[in-house]
Amino acid sequence: MPNFHLDLVMSRIAIIGAGITGVTTAYALAERGHDVTVFERHRYAAMETSFANGGQLSASNAEVWNSMATVLKGLRWMFTRDAPLLLNPAPSWHKYSWMGEFLRQIPNYRANTIETVRLAIAAREHLFGIAEREGIDFDLEQRGILHMYQQKKAFDAAAKVNLLLQSGGLDRRAVTGDEMRAIEPTLQGDFHGGFFTPSDSTGDIHKFTRGLAEACERRGVRFHYDTQIANIEQRGDGPFAMRVLHGGSEGDEQQHGFERIVVCAGVASREIASMLGDHVNIYPVKGYSITVCLDDAASREGAPWVSLLDESAKIVTSRLGADRFRVAGTAEINGFNRDIRSDRIAPLVDWTRRYFPGVATSRVIPWAGLRPMLPSMLPKVGSGKRRGVFYNTGHGHLGWTLSAATAHSIAERM
Ligand SMILES: Cc1cc2nc3c(=O)[nH]c(=O)nc-3n(C[C@H](O)[C@H](O)[C@H](O)COP(=O)(O)OP(=O)(O)OC[C@H]3O[C@@H](n4cnc5c(N)ncnc54)[C@H](O)[C@@H]3O)c2cc1C
Repeated sequence: MPNFHLDLVMSRIAIIGAGITGVTTAYALAERGHDVTVFERHRYAAMETSFANGGQLSASNAEVWNSMATVLKGLRWMFTRDAPLLLNPAPSWHKYSWMGEFLRQIPNYRANTIETVRLAIAAREHLFGIAEREGIDFDLEQRGILHMYQQKKAFDAAAKVNLLLQSGGLDRRAVTGDEMRAIEPTLQGDFHGGFFTPSDSTGDIHKFTRGLAEACERRGVRFHYDTQIANIEQRGDGPFAMRVLHGGSEGDEQQHGFERIVVCAGVASREIASMLGDHVNIYPVKGYSITVCLDDAASREGAPWVSLLDESAKIVTSRLGADRFRVAGTAEINGFNRDIRSDRIAPLVDWTRRYFPGVATSRVIPWAGLRPMLPSMLPKVGSGKRRGVFYNTGHGHLGWTLSAATAHSIAERM
């Protein structure tokens, strides 16, 4: 028999999801004195998309993808094996409605890119402040991000984007092939040139989120792990009754009451939003990473410390401490599919071998995650239709970069 227990307490806030967005939101609210409870279906924080991402805290990657140039490139990629973008054309209302909205956002390309840069720059201050205050070690490297271009055409196109990023307040400068090698001496290969952003950095999102969840607990935040939100109801303007399953679908069923809810459920936010009467059209855009274990001295010396972004392969890298090198990339529009495909992992390994031949790739840990992406590529940060409903979700390919700023912003509003 399910165990029902009613826990209706006024003025309490429930957060759904303990990824980077949920935990930064919990921290920002706890700092302001709120009574916060976090619900997470996994046993620990940061087990879904905030697990093994590219690691970049990158204002320099703020360009939104809603442009005709990107759409045309994407169409070409559809017919290329090993292309960074893969689209499963099978019919799905979710997929095609998302793509339609994505195209309708093209006129907002400029404004949305500038807004993303602004948010990314603001986020740094919050993130570094939190890590310092709470003593969180997350393999932070403040050595900048270097964008690499093999072809002049791509470099010239990037120069135009650079003007946009600069108008958002970012210091990002063009560098020659020789300057690139001076910035990151382990990098091999020929390049037309690059763009370097000294103020960007990298770190381990999983370590940070776990460390911050512990800091939240010290500040009185309650975490219910292994607890899935199954249903939410609200009577009139009154509190929300949340039906939760503890310990999986066969487990205990309980009911909790809260006055306010913040949805930070990553790719599940669309489903939760529909329970709350909102349409939040998040699509799961799949990506892959490998963590290369730098087990020997030659590999540790041959792997870069400066973070890289290869524009043609859409690959990003991060050095996570002395003995881990993360390489991430690719975008797959293929629904809620988390399978790790070896033909999508191979290009990441090949890329590592090509540019860092001194690094052994005998031990790499593959991973796949789903980016919670809105068609505008800007996160939804604000209230829903019903009183007491809030969202901090849909951060797409930049959740690690932006979360500290959006958590601050939602907490201020609440
Ligand atoms: C390959 C790849 C590389 C990336 N690289 C970068 C990068 O370099 N820099 C960057 O800034 N960003 C990067 N990102 C994006 C970034 O990782 C994400 O934007 C971010 O992790 C999303 O965090 P989140 O909190 O929204 O989602 P999640 O981390 O997925 O958290 C949502 C949580 O909600 C929980 N949940 C959902 N539904 C329920 C429910 N019903 N009940 C209880 N719990 C629920 C889930 O279990 C999950 O833990 C990358 C993403 C990928 C896939």
